[in-house]
Amino acid sequence: MHNRTRYGETIMLNEFRGPWPDGRRGAMALTFDCDVTYAYAPARPDPAGPRTGERLFEKKPKRLQGYSRGMYGLHTALPRILDFLKRRGIRGGFYVPGANVERWPESFRAIVEQGHEIGAHGHEHENVSLYKDDPEAEAAVLDAALAAFEMHLGVRPAGYRSPAWDMNLHTARLLAERGFTYDSSLFAGEAPHMLSDIYPDQPDLLEFPIDWCLDDAVYFMWFMPPHLMAQLHGPEEVFRIWRDELDGIVGEGGVFTLTCHPSVIGRHHRMNILERLVDHAEARGDVWIAPLDEIAGHVMRRKAAA
Ligand SMILES: [Zn+2]
Repeated sequence: MHNRTRYGETIMLNEFRGPWPDGRRGAMALTFDCDVTYAYAPARPDPAGPRTGERLFEKKPKRLQGYSRGMYGLHTALPRILDFLKRRGIRGGFYVPGANVERWPESFRAIVEQGHEIGAHGHEHENVSLYKDDPEAEAAVLDAALAAFEMHLGVRPAGYRSPAWDMNLHTARLLAERGFTYDSSLFAGEAPHMLSDIYPDQPDLLEFPIDWCLDDAVYFMWFMPPHLMAQLHGPEEVFRIWRDELDGIVGEGGVFTLTCHPSVIGRHHRMNILERLVDHAEARGDVWIAPLDEIAGHVMRRKAAA
């Protein structure tokens, strides 16, 4: 048990806080959720019907705004992000709904071909809390997503990110049964830990915690009124929040997991935040920058050897 005393409380999450490769103090993962058109639609199942794929226009959508925003993310922002990662020599992680892989296989094949991690993110961006009483339906959704990855990318993903950052009480079991190594959808702690260590009856699935303050959408995603999310923050403010979180989390041996969405972070002034964040991490010299599948492999090897 790795207990830590912080702010007078004993943390008992049994978190993995090193040792990290090459004597690094902590790790940083840049992750990108490629929702494409689902970013601007309610999480599925959606009574308005599919928001992507061949059947989209059968539903006669009355507006094209959400679709056009998705196209910005897919065709403008995603290549920009891939260029950025290539230039900085960084492997990133991309979490993609299976239906998006079916609809635009060439875009997501480019991610795999450039050596990045690709992980599961539902099939039609389903909110898994809606399946809390129906594990068979949730299993079918997972299997459809895995089949799309297999058919179009030849990949079996190691990682899962829930589309709504939530898990019902059987989601982790369904993931473990399908051979997933890790999940990154929940909020406890700031370092990887086993779900079974802190939640009763949950399987041995590695968890990389996330947080809303480490998500680009809460600062930058703008919907026209009357929707609730209507805000635009300046890049300096967000850079400082992310830098201070990176310093704090890495300083305590944890994993800084940043969640971005191509259509949101891909604007020029926001890509500059990522550039400065990588500059900062490299200047520190003690940050292991890697995708979560690589970090998970390290953690599991160390746990097995312990
Ligand atoms: Zn998403």
